[in-house]
This record gives sequence, structure tokens and C-alpha cells, in this order.
Amino acid sequence: MKYLFFILTFTALVAIGQNYEPKTIDFESIEFAAPLKIPLILAGNFGEMRGNHFHTGLDIKTKGVSGQKVIAIQDGYISRVRVSPWGYGNAIYIDHPSGITSLYAHLSNYPPAIDSFIYAQQALTESYVLDEIVLQDSFFVKKGQIIAYSGNSGSSFAPHLHFEIRETATEHALNPLLFKTMRTKIKDTTPPKVSGIKLYAITEKGFMIPGKSKYYTCRLVGKKWVINENKPIDINHLITENSMLGIGFHTTDKLDAAGNVCGVHHTVLSHNGTKKHEQQIDYINFDHNRFLNSHQDYYEFKQNKKNIHKNFTTVINPLTIYPQNDGKIKWEECAGTYEFDVYDAHGNAHTISFTLGSAVKKPSANPFDKTGAYFFPDVVNTHITEDFQVLIEPGCFYEPLQKIVSTDSNSKYLSPIYQFSEYTIPVQSKYDVRIQVPEQYKDLPSYKFGIGLISDRGYLSFLGGNYVDGWVEARARNFGQFVLVLDTVAPKITPLDFNEGKTITKYNTLELEIHDNLAGVMEYKAYLNDKWVLMKYNRKKRRYIIPLNARSRPILLTGKNTVRITAKDGKGNSEEKSYTLIY
Ligand SMILES: [Zn+2]
Repeated sequence: MKYLFFILTFTALVAIGQNYEPKTIDFESIEFAAPLKIPLILAGNFGEMRGNHFHTGLDIKTKGVSGQKVIAIQDGYISRVRVSPWGYGNAIYIDHPSGITSLYAHLSNYPPAIDSFIYAQQALTESYVLDEIVLQDSFFVKKGQIIAYSGNSGSSFAPHLHFEIRETATEHALNPLLFKTMRTKIKDTTPPKVSGIKLYAITEKGFMIPGKSKYYTCRLVGKKWVINENKPIDINHLITENSMLGIGFHTTDKLDAAGNVCGVHHTVLSHNGTKKHEQQIDYINFDHNRFLNSHQDYYEFKQNKKNIHKNFTTVINPLTIYPQNDGKIKWEECAGTYEFDVYDAHGNAHTISFTLGSAVKKPSANPFDKTGAYFFPDVVNTHITEDFQVLIEPGCFYEPLQKIVSTDSNSKYLSPIYQFSEYTIPVQSKYDVRIQVPEQYKDLPSYKFGIGLISDRGYLSFLGGNYVDGWVEARARNFGQFVLVLDTVAPKITPLDFNEGKTITKYNTLELEIHDNLAGVMEYKAYLNDKWVLMKYNRKKRRYIIPLNARSRPILLTGKNTVRITAKDGKGNSEEKSYTLIY
């Protein structure tokens, strides 16, 4: 058989219609304490657009420093802890009897009892990183108890507290400002702002037609915000065959106490007095959060930092934030006056209005009608060649994808460079990529093969991969240039402030670097005199740190000691180094 085909095991299309189901939680009467003992000033709010996701909590300022006391907001028990160089960094989750879970992230450290509790989980798994773990014991906390100190850990770029409230049963992130008790702690009288609108020609499925959109800035004239000098906007240049009109709004909010740009809570669009579209970000289902890339105008965000909420959705968008969703308007019905109301969670409101003219011109051609030029996101897509194959399930990317595929045989890798679409195009979920192992490499160790992805800046990332019948298969969540690579090289361990025979009596830490060429460091451990000790990874300093503290010092012997470091990469290549240290 000339071609190998993927076995198609699709579940139904992820998203069918969008529903808004308000939460039945008693937002008015549930009371809780503030998570910090200092005034609550927000650097970010719930629902704010953050590149690939809606922000799922409040970012609370900590006066620019780490070490602010973090407080349990209600009685409860620690249901999960997380330690990671990425994302939430150090985080604590507390389940409360009221049905909510509170989450405190980017923490620096903890009071002794909680510190010991977390260390016990790390010792049990011999791992610095903790995630998705089942806690062995219950740890109860009281409302008002200090549970941690704020910090800057994980993917945080300035000290702050990320505070989140989830519905325990569903793990959906709730907008904390829906709770009256929280709104009274964070005063806000500043209304949201609309900076501009964008008109789009869209398909009946809500896909944006390339080159057929236009942005109009809102200008302040006297005390009134106006668009297009208050004259009807001519929409005729947008009209395309088999298309409709969609409208997007560049809207953001600020809170009283700080200048940080935040997200809006609720918007309503009406046309000649009839409501067409309504959006309300009360909660986020984490399974859908990345569909922000479909909700917003992705390229306006990436290129121009505009937060455009599209008031129409594609057929693959499952977000549950649209109480009403009739924003696809027929050209022949689009003339007239539009009103757009936007609210923040405190109920502060801003309204703009504008007028569209009538459709009179003949429509221009629709590029999507040209057969074979595009991949469409709501169907199965395949790209099958003799040595490179791609299979994409429905709902995996957001907008029709121009068919950009090529093979470059002039490659320094084990295979040609296979281009499939472009790196800058957002992808929702992983899809299958396969590269055939060239004949001359058939004798290399097959389990060490993987697929590499070259970014638009030329960086190679390793996607992993399994060898099956002469092919290497991997899952990708980017488009771009794919190549076959082989990783047989173990990580390299390099001590920074110690070496063989070093006297470490006055040391507080042992620091080292661990580098891997391709697959990346997956596992790292340190042993003092054959006993596991914690080795932290500080991603920002790119170093691994063994604290010599009250836990590790008692293991040290007077005289000679052995420190042993092990590291493993994503392809199972491992390295071990031992050093004699004098204490
Ligand atoms: Zn945050």
C-alpha cells in the first residue's frame, strides 16, 4: 500500500451551539474574608483577554513586593497544592463547605506547618514539581488563617497574588466580583471604555472573510463618543458573496484604584431597538478557555493589542458566555442604528451608538468559494503525501486556513523540512503529524526519534514522538515547519558553585545547571549521602538549587559527603553525576 492512513476515531464535533447557563450560587449572601490584609487593588480582573485564554481570577497588587500575608477566605481544607516553574507557580487550593474552592497562586513560601505539609508531598514523590496530586492527608484551615506569603513564582512577571474562586463541583472558575462581599472590598466607579468597532464580512458559520473587515475608531467630540463623525458607515466595500455582517467591539475597563487595563463583564448589542447579541463572562469552563482565540479578533490582539470582542460566533465556539447570539446580520437588513452597552462587574456602564448605511452594491467574490484553497475548521482535514501526513479533527483551529504546504529537501535534519500552514496561526487542540523515517536511518534506535517543530523565529521545539511501522508520529499544537530528529544525548549536569572535593560548610545552597539538547529535561533528582533532598528549579535564573537548610543539613556528615544528581530527558536519555563534598 502506497499510503498509510490514520485510523479515524472521531468523537462528534466538540461544539454545538452556545449556551449560557447562569450559576445558581448565592452570590449575594456568601461571605468571605479578603485574601490579603492590605487594600485590594487589581492589576488584572476576571475575563480579561490574555493571549490564549481568558484570565480566570483576580490579580491583586502586593505593593510591588513578595511576602504579603495570604489569608484563607473561609474555613476549609487544602484540597490541592501545586509547585511548578510554570503557570500558577506555587499555589494552594482550599475547598470550602459553601461549595466554592479558593485558589491562591504565585506564592513565595508558607508558614511552617503548611511548608512541612507540602514538603511531605514532594518527598513522597521525590519531585520538586507537584501537580494533579492526591493529597495523602487532610489539612484544615480556619477563615483568616495565614496560609502563605505572596510572591512571583511560576509565569508571573511582577510580585502579585493571583486569586481565583471556583465552583468546587464543576471546577469552573467564577468571576470573584460576582460575589457581593468581594465587590464591597474592591470599590469601582469607573465605567468601561469602547475604543472602536470593527465590521466584518463573515460566512453563515461565522468565519471571517479575509480582507473584508474594517476598524473604526471611537472619537471623543465634546462629551460624546462618536464613530465615523456620526454619519452612516458605508458597508458596501465589505459585501461578499455568501456572506453576512458581523460586528466586533474594542472594549476594556479600568478600576478606580489603578491604571491597569482590565476586561469587561457584560455587553449588549441592539439594532433598531432589538437585542441581537449579549455576552456575559460570569464563569469559565477550563475545557473551553482557549476558545478566547475564537471569541476575540486574534490578529488585532497579536498585532495591534486591540481587545476586540466579536459579537458573533463561529460554529466551533463552545464558550458559554453568550446569553443571546444573533449577531450575524443579513446585508439587506443591516442598515439602521446600533447601540452597544458595556458593563463592568460593579454595574458601571458605557454606551455608544452608530449607524450603518444600506447595501446597494453587487457583492464581490468570496475566496472561500474557490474549491480546494482552504482547510475549514468544522470538518476533518488531512494532508497526505508519501513521507509526511497531517490529520486534523474538527474544532482544532479557529478560522479557515489557507492551504500552505511545501517540502524543502535542503535540510540539516534527518528529513526534509515539511511546511504545514504557519506558526503564527493559533491552534486550539493537538492534532496528528507523521513523518516517514528515510531509508538510510532505518537502523537508528527507533524509540529515540521524535518530531521537531521550527518556530517562525527559527527555534526548534521537540514534540516527542512514537515510532510505528517506519513512521514517527507526534501530536502538535502549532502549525509550521516539521522535521524528523533523533535524541540520543543525555542532559548535561554542570555544578556552578561547587565541584569535586569542595568544602561546603558555609554554603546555604548548592547550585547547578542542567541542559538538554532536544527533548528537554523531564526529571531531575538530588541525593545527599543517598537520601533524597529537594532540588528546586528556578526557571527565571535557569538554575537548579539544592537548599542546605534544616531539612538537608542533618543528613550531612562531618568530613566526606556525597551529592548525587540525576537527570532524564523526554526520550529517556539519562545522566548521573556524583561529587564528594567536605562538611
Ligand atoms: Zn493572574
